[in-house]
Amino acid sequence: MNVARQEQIAALAQRLGERVTRDAPLAPYAGVGVGGPAELLVVARSRDDVIACIQAARELDVPWRVFGGLTNVLLPDAGLRGLVVLHRACAVAFDAEHRVHVEAGAGMARVARESVQRGLGGLTWAVGLPGSVGGAVVNNAGAFGGEIAGSLVAATVLNPQGEVLDVAPAWFGFAYRYSRLKGAMAQWVILDATFQLKPRDPQRLADKAAEYTARRQRTQPPGKTLGSTFKNPPGDYAGRLIEAAGLKGARSGGFVISEQHANFFINEGNGTAEGYLALITLAQETVVRQFGVPLEPEIEIVEEIPYA
Ligand SMILES: Cc1cc2nc3c(=O)[nH]c(=O)nc-3n(C[C@H](O)[C@H](O)[C@H](O)COP(=O)(O)OP(=O)(O)OC[C@H]3O[C@@H](n4cnc5c(N)ncnc54)[C@H](O)[C@@H]3O)c2cc1C
Repeated sequence: MNVARQEQIAALAQRLGERVTRDAPLAPYAGVGVGGPAELLVVARSRDDVIACIQAARELDVPWRVFGGLTNVLLPDAGLRGLVVLHRACAVAFDAEHRVHVEAGAGMARVARESVQRGLGGLTWAVGLPGSVGGAVVNNAGAFGGEIAGSLVAATVLNPQGEVLDVAPAWFGFAYRYSRLKGAMAQWVILDATFQLKPRDPQRLADKAAEYTARRQRTQPPGKTLGSTFKNPPGDYAGRLIEAAGLKGARSGGFVISEQHANFFINEGNGTAEGYLALITLAQETVVRQFGVPLEPEIEIVEEIPYA
């Protein structure tokens, strides 16, 4: 590392004080158990903390990225330079108008479960969804016919200039598993979100929630995964194509293509990003050769944060 960069990092570490960890391995925070060290890591427990850390990084010219639950990202084995902020501010408040206001670090499944318990429908599809509200909004996450865009009515975001803005759902430009923030290197940060729910029969909601949970348990392999690796191509299923290509059980660098669901790649213990990427390439090349169908990753493959 050159001297100027070392000084930038040291100055930021000093500014951030006790909340920062240097050279912190990210794998323990990631659902799939992969990821080298972050040069600087802050697990932010409040909205003010998120804003203050990013402000400090901006002022000291240190590159930064914000993540939530790390359930949809493949982090590099070499780790990430600069500052990584894990948004874990997680306050949840229901109001009298059947809305729920949540900080973006709250678990999406928790918000869904609490809504069901209160007899409020709209987010029941998310009872088993891994990850945070922020990640779910960025991806317009969805399942069982529901999606974020169906209930989000407002959000607060931090823009790249450090200003806090209230935005309407249309601002996100939601499409299938897409918002304008996807791929934006998280230079825009979602701070909190509001969902409009609807009163429903509590027993029926609880039954639906149980059905969705059971369906996930039946169809999704257990273990450390990133969920579906590839998007389903039009009119087909990525898992079906990978299975038909004979790739179930293929192994690389501590990962195996699941015997139960071929779109899930499972960390067998010492999985590496390199191993996962090799399986991605194997699946893409084999499926295109055999069936002429290109497979596009659904997970986000994170690359090193560039210094300006
Ligand atoms: C077993 C399993 C099952 C899954 N099932 C589904 C499913 O049914 N449907 C579905 O849609 N997805 C599914 N996923 C994928 C994943 O759960 C979702 O995409 C989830 O919403 C990601 O949230 P996260 O907090 O983990 O995001 P992360 O992985 O932390 O981040 C994802 C992206 O969002 C950005 N980001 C995160 N928080 C913020 C924020 N506050 N502000 C700005 N940017 C932010 C990050 O920079 C990154 O670009 C599944 C994953 C697993 C492991």
